[in-house]
Amino acid sequence: MRLTGRALGVDTAPMEPVPLSALRGHRAQLAVLSRAVLADGCAHAWLFSGPPGVGKTTAASALLGALACTNRPRPTADACGKCPSCSALRRDEHPDVKVLRRDGQVIKIEQVREATARLRYAPVVARIKAVLIEDAETLHETAGNALLKSLEEPARDVVFVLVTSRPQLLLDTIRSRCQGLRFAELPPDDVAAILRAEGHTQDAARIAAALAQGSLHEARTLCNPQRLQAVDDVAAFVARLGLGPATEAALFVDRIAASLDTGAEHGSDDGAVRRADLTRPDVLWVVDVARAVLRDALLLDAGFAADELPYQRHVDALRALGQRVGAPALARVLDRCQELDTRMVLNPNPRLALAALLTDAGVAVRNTVRR
Ligand SMILES: [Zn+2]
Repeated sequence: MRLTGRALGVDTAPMEPVPLSALRGHRAQLAVLSRAVLADGCAHAWLFSGPPGVGKTTAASALLGALACTNRPRPTADACGKCPSCSALRRDEHPDVKVLRRDGQVIKIEQVREATARLRYAPVVARIKAVLIEDAETLHETAGNALLKSLEEPARDVVFVLVTSRPQLLLDTIRSRCQGLRFAELPPDDVAAILRAEGHTQDAARIAAALAQGSLHEARTLCNPQRLQAVDDVAAFVARLGLGPATEAALFVDRIAASLDTGAEHGSDDGAVRRADLTRPDVLWVVDVARAVLRDALLLDAGFAADELPYQRHVDALRALGQRVGAPALARVLDRCQELDTRMVLNPNPRLALAALLTDAGVAVRNTVRR
């Protein structure tokens, strides 16, 4: 089973002077960046694009850390981690390196002006001055135009890195002034190795890497035992589709809401116990997991061996589901899942939209009598 579509959140790595050589995966991209650092002839504006959560911001931080470092141990392209520039980055108070993040929905023109105003002056502690722009697609149009001025008249010792998972939303004029570097999904083996190095158990690392569709961010989220349990709960529910009473979907939604809820149930002012809530991203995530499970059931029904699936739990139950309802019904339920976006527009309560979708899926399966 592999999740597709939405990854949770965006990468928001802190400005840590991580050595470039310590980053895993993205070998070709890191080679390009190392060469740029060593050549001292770095592009003055980069555009890092690729799916959310694959480590673009981390790579941007590593690049800027190395360029800014005043004591880089040659011949490596790594920041030293100790000089005043590296220390300032770690403390998140570097006078020469500014990180722009959206303020609400957009990055505002005032933020761009503030970040670029200091570029006129010499660096205080670093070898360069730099601006890292996260979620660059959220640059407001006026902010983008303000940024364009700095990109058009590059100062010699200034480096911009724009990071985005949706480069098509940037102004053409900005894109054309940046050196593009595209980051792909991380291979599951790399994701698993990173998770192991971060101290996660082998079992959690393997399962999370198999499910995360190349997103390290998603994989880290999945290593949370609560999330892994939720994956199991969704798989178990899907495997039993159509077997239980019609009320089962609502009960399942209650259970999954409780298990995904980060704030455990607590009493409210009037003494009532708060009902765990489901956010819109939670619901999209649950349906993504359900789709991945249904696809596994279809693959098993088509004769694929269990060990060809990256996530091999519930195999017997999913095989039984395929035998019980057949591939056409599984495909129909999968189609229903694609309707979720429309349903969420029509039904602004994500919890109810999910319950309705799963109830319909159960009914669709129950009405299919196979063989
Ligand atoms: Zn340093």
